[in-house]
Amino acid sequence: MREKLTHKYDLTIIGGGPVGLFAAYFAGMRNADVAIIESLPQLGGQVAALFPEKMVYDVGGIAGIKAKDLIKQQEAQLALFPPKIFLKTEAQTIETDDDGDYVITTTQGDLHTRGIIIAIGTGAFAPRRLAFDYDPALETAGYLDYFVQDLETYRDRDVVIAGGGDSAIDWALALAPIAQHVTLVHRRNQFRGLESSVTKLEESPVQIKTPYLISQLATAADQLVIDLKKVKTDDHEQLRADKLIVNYGFTADSRVLRQWGLELAGMKVKVNTQMATNRPRIYAIGDVVTYPGKLDLLAVGYAEAPIAVATALQTIYPEKIQPVHSTSLFEH
Ligand SMILES: Cc1cc2nc3c(=O)[nH]c(=O)nc-3n(C[C@H](O)[C@H](O)[C@H](O)COP(=O)(O)OP(=O)(O)OC[C@H]3O[C@@H](n4cnc5c(N)ncnc54)[C@H](O)[C@@H]3O)c2cc1C
Repeated sequence: MREKLTHKYDLTIIGGGPVGLFAAYFAGMRNADVAIIESLPQLGGQVAALFPEKMVYDVGGIAGIKAKDLIKQQEAQLALFPPKIFLKTEAQTIETDDDGDYVITTTQGDLHTRGIIIAIGTGAFAPRRLAFDYDPALETAGYLDYFVQDLETYRDRDVVIAGGGDSAIDWALALAPIAQHVTLVHRRNQFRGLESSVTKLEESPVQIKTPYLISQLATAADQLVIDLKKVKTDDHEQLRADKLIVNYGFTADSRVLRQWGLELAGMKVKVNTQMATNRPRIYAIGDVVTYPGKLDLLAVGYAEAPIAVATALQTIYPEKIQPVHSTSLFEH
């Protein structure tokens, strides 16, 4: 992000969840220069992180869609007017600059912007990590991942996955035909995933180790040595693998809100009917906002996004008249 220091975006969306993605698309469609800041290495917020395999039935015009496919659709939509996307980047402070615009300090550097839309949902997501100390070089050396970004990285490798939810099962099933061998380690005998996924898992070549916890990591002869402790016993055994994927879910932290000079109700941002906060040209949408009648639903967040974008662009560029309908924007 350092090379962007002098660049000033029209709108910066803080939070790459479903609502932030729709706001970015809607602003891009109106020719705005847009950036998205997202703390995770992936887009999609709660939908992608917490319930990717569940069906969503209450988005207008869609009879039913798997949550992860909804995010794929949003990413495809976003690609029509691609914004600048900063992943693994957490927004920290929001200060005014000499022009009365904003500087957002982030974990990766500063970002300059005329307007801001806050779409941080329940807060910055971070993966739940292994609960014991291990050499951090295991992550940089590629032995230990908290996210699967490219399945090919695991081709013909011996892979251990830790976790018992939909996401861990999903990765185990996706990697079974690619990796040399996949072992799934979970601390309970029952998995929390969808019944249909658990059935697929039981029928797959994935080796299941329950009830075990990972208690230590080391390396030997270019392989990871994973110490497993059988739950409620003192029994230990060791697994060797090329790669370990830890999928223990996510934590969400929204405490940063308290430093942004916004009027809050609890940990929610108060907005008016134009999604405006108490700070000029800072808007908020999605699960992070509160107003009478607010519902934490995708459909509601998707409706708030165009209101915030239209108000923001009208305020930043009052001379530009923005058409209301997408059917008036393009010929085809
Ligand atoms: C189990 C479950 C099932 C659900 N089912 C449905 C359903 O069927 N229908 C429905 O309509 N809704 C459903 N919801 C609710 C829906 O998921 C939320 O309303 C929606 O995700 C809100 O979107 P959002 O973009 O506002 O926030 P989020 O999805 O929370 O996304 C916010 C993003 O902002 C990022 N972020 C936060 N802080 C920072 C920061 N400081 N810097 C950078 N990035 C940051 C986070 O990492 C996150 O990716 C469900 C929710 C859950 C938990």
